[in-house]
Amino acid sequence: MRAYTAGDTDVPLLDETIGQNFERIVAGFPFHDALIEAAPVPGADARRWSYTKLNDDVDRLARALLARGVTAGERIGIWSPNCAEWTILQYATAKIGAILVNVNPAYRSHELEFVVRQSGMRMLVAAPSDRASDYTGMARQALAECPELKELVFLPDGGQPQLQAGDPETDAEMTYAELLKRADDVGHSVLKARLAGLDPDDPINLQYTSGTTGFPKGATLTHRNILNNGYSIGELLGYTEHDRVVVPVPFYHCFGMVIGNLNALSHGAATIIPGRSFTPAAALEAVQDFGGTSLYGVPTMFIAELALPDFASYDLSTLRTGVMAGSLCPIEVMNRVITEMNMKDVAICYGMTETSPVSTMTRVGDTMQQRTETVGRTMPQLESQVVDPVTGSVLERGEIGELCTRGYAVMKGYWNQPDKTAEAIDADGWMHTGDLARMDAAGYVVIEGRIKDMVIRGGENIYPREIEEFLYTHPSIQDVQVIGVPDAKYGEELMACVILKPGAEPLDAPAVAEFCRGRLAHYKIPRYVEVRDSFPMTVSGKIRKVEMRHEAVARLGL
Ligand code: AMP
Repeated sequence: MRAYTAGDTDVPLLDETIGQNFERIVAGFPFHDALIEAAPVPGADARRWSYTKLNDDVDRLARALLARGVTAGERIGIWSPNCAEWTILQYATAKIGAILVNVNPAYRSHELEFVVRQSGMRMLVAAPSDRASDYTGMARQALAECPELKELVFLPDGGQPQLQAGDPETDAEMTYAELLKRADDVGHSVLKARLAGLDPDDPINLQYTSGTTGFPKGATLTHRNILNNGYSIGELLGYTEHDRVVVPVPFYHCFGMVIGNLNALSHGAATIIPGRSFTPAAALEAVQDFGGTSLYGVPTMFIAELALPDFASYDLSTLRTGVMAGSLCPIEVMNRVITEMNMKDVAICYGMTETSPVSTMTRVGDTMQQRTETVGRTMPQLESQVVDPVTGSVLERGEIGELCTRGYAVMKGYWNQPDKTAEAIDADGWMHTGDLARMDAAGYVVIEGRIKDMVIRGGENIYPREIEEFLYTHPSIQDVQVIGVPDAKYGEELMACVILKPGAEPLDAPAVAEFCRGRLAHYKIPRYVEVRDSFPMTVSGKIRKVEMRHEAVARLGL
C-alpha cells in the first residue's frame, strides 16, 4: 500500500477573513471570556477581556493604525514575550489587512535588523525590555539603521502601564497608549470599509522559521491558511465556547498564535496567558486559577511541570484535553500527562511553520498506541505522503522517507525568496518537511527524526529517537538527547546527553552500555555519555542538536 493519505473532506473550509470570523464569534458570545492574562506578580489582578471588550480594544488599535496611514499589505512587526497586547495586535492587523511579522523574542540586534529589512517592516511594536533583553535599545538601533522602518511603538512593560519606555527619542517613537489615542481621528466606518475589502487569500502573517542554521526565512501565511488550521485543530479537540485554553507557548510561534489564539477565538473559547514566558509553576497555576480545560506545551514543558516538587498540590481537575507538539514526546511522558494531569483527550499535533502549522494530529478515541507512538493522521482537507528523499518517489507503508504535505495549509511561499520557496514546495504543490517518517497501515504517521539528525555509524542508519526512547526507561534519566559526533573509524559515533533525575547516582558511558547490553544492537549503544543540567533550546522549545554537536566536538577535541 502506498504511503499516501488524504484527510476528511466532508466539512468545507471557512471562507472568511480572520476579522470576519472574529466578528461573527463576538456576535455569538459577546459576554464570554475571550482573553485572560494572569497577574505578572502575586497579589495583583489578572487582566480579563470578554469578547465584546476584546473586539472594542482590537478596533481601537485598528483605527489607530489606520490613523497612522497603515495600508493593507504593509508589514507591522511584534517583538515581545506573551502578553494580551500581542493578541490584540494580531487581530487589529488582521482587521486592516496589515501583515503581522512575528519577531522571535530571543532575537538580538543583528537578527532583528535582518528581519526588519527582509520583510520591509514599516512599524515595530516592541516590549521595552525583558529579563534578558533591552528591546528598547535594539529597536532604536534598528530604527536608525533600517530606512524602511518608520515607527516604533513601545508596549507597556509587563502589563503595568506605569512602567513605560524612556522618553521618546524622536517623533518616530511612541508608546502604545499614545498610539491608541490616534484612534479618535478615524471613524468606525473607515475600519468597516477596510475589513470588507480584504480577501481570505491575502497574506496576513510572516513567521520567520526557527531554523537553527542559516538566516531565517519568512513563511508567508494567508487568512485561509492559519484561520482554517487553527479552527480545524479545535474541531478535532472538540472545543466549544466553554473551553479555557492555557497557552504557555510563545505567541511569536504558530503554536501560540494559531493553535492557541486563532483556534480558541474561532470557537468562542478563552485564551489564558499564564505569563510572559514559560515557567512550569505559572502554567499549572493558570490551569488551577482559571479553570483551564486544555493545556499546551512542547514535551520539555510537560516534563518540567511533572517534575515540580509540589506537582501533586495543583488542582488540575478541570483539564480534559490539550496539545503536545513541536518535537518528539517520550511515551512515558505522554502516559503521565494523560493519567496524572487529567488530560485524557490530549492530542499530539505535528507540523511546521510553513504548513500553518498542523498537518497530522491524533484524534480523540485513538488507541493509546496511536496517541503515544504516532503523530496521528492527516488533517481534514490536507494530504500527506512519504517519499524517497533521493528519488522523490512515493514509498510503501512502513518504509522510512521524507514526509510531505499538500493542501490549503501550505504557505504562499517564503517572503521575497522564490528560489527558497521552490526548494521547499515542489511543482505538484507538496511541501517537503525535511522530517523522516513512516506511515502505518492505518495511515498514522511515525516521525523518525530530522533528515539532518540521522546518524550514520559504520554504514548503519541510526535514528536517535529509538535510542532516546529506550534510555528514557533508565531509572536515573529524566531527559535525554542522542546526537552523532564525528569519528575517524566509523564516520560518526553516538553520544547520549542526559539530564539526571534529582538525587540520582551519576551515570557514565560504561554504566549506560551495561544498561543497553543485550537489549540494543551493539552499534546503537552510545560511545559517549554526557551528564548536563539542561539542553540548548530555541524559544519555541526545540532542542538545538546542531549546537549540542558543535559543543561536544569542541569539548572532546574531535
Ligand atoms: P516549526 O516550524 O518551528 O514549527 O518546526 C517544525 C518542525 O518541528 C517539524 O519539521 C518537526 O521536525 C518538528 N515537530 C513538530 N511537531 C512535532 C511532533 N509532534 N513530533 C515530532 N516533531 C515535531
